Amino acid sequence: MRRKSFDFIGKFLIFFILLLTLFGAAAQAEDYLIFVNNREFLGDIFFKGDVVFLECQWLPHVFKDQDLKIDNYACELLLDGKNIKCIKGGGGKLFVSGQALASSFGGKYKNNRETKTVDIYTFGEKKRAIKASAFRLNMGPESAKIDIVATSSPLPPTASRVVYTMKNLGISVEEYPLKVVFDDASKFSRGKDSQGYFQMGFSGKKLIKCEVHILNNLPEDAKTWAIAHELGHLWYFMNGCVYTDQYHSEGFAEWVGYKVCTTLGYGNEATMRTYNIVPVYGEGLRYYLDLESKYFQNGVLQYVRGNFKPPQ
Ligand SMILES: [Zn+2]
Repeated sequence: MRRKSFDFIGKFLIFFILLLTLFGAAAQAEDYLIFVNNREFLGDIFFKGDVVFLECQWLPHVFKDQDLKIDNYACELLLDGKNIKCIKGGGGKLFVSGQALASSFGGKYKNNRETKTVDIYTFGEKKRAIKASAFRLNMGPESAKIDIVATSSPLPPTASRVVYTMKNLGISVEEYPLKVVFDDASKFSRGKDSQGYFQMGFSGKKLIKCEVHILNNLPEDAKTWAIAHELGHLWYFMNGCVYTDQYHSEGFAEWVGYKVCTTLGYGNEATMRTYNIVPVYGEGLRYYLDLESKYFQNGVLQYVRGNFKPPQ
């Protein structure tokens, strides 16, 4: 009898510990944003210590242009001629270690606990700055395939207001061949809460096309913010900004949104965005606002160009 009850308590304890572990892992994973070559990874994940494991079935979304095969039987994946061992997770799904993925290609794995992001790059240091910006801005190798369209159509009123305001603020994108279009939600399946994205087309090093896509049913203040955010990315990219991680690039784009909205009288929208709980947006924005309060706008613009480092 005694033994039986011990068994029961023992089993119950083990079950309880397992339950804790599962919930612990889930809670940790849910808070995190994962980026692979600067594309957001939206498949299943779990953590083992600092290392994130990614659901293999989702990888084709981030390695669109690469040769990728998933071998369930051998429990490995083959990416651009490299074999990488996987492990089986729940429901027989295959998972690959983000660290193994990066190191197989001499890339970089970075878990930033403060911003709750993991950045995984499958290319080395030299190419990172260029490629990361290219991927983030949605160009990738596919940018070459974008047709060149003459953009004689004038910008929508909200967009021209944003462009004009940015010019007055000294963050001008007016000189670029801009086109702003509004799309319905079905075109925005790429990111969970994305309200905009943009594509660029180059002829050699010359930017010949920049198309900004914005969700079409946003109220005027949020629409203004979304356009300013995307054009903030454009300015960042065209001005050779040195920091390629999400925290800096999203934070900067949010900061441009903040500047434009406060200038145009959308102070509430601007204040609300400073409370964004997603670290790369909320904390990123607060970082740049803090930088600006200490070193003014010029300090911010010199910082992102790598010309100025604030004292620690
Ligand atoms: Zn963004």
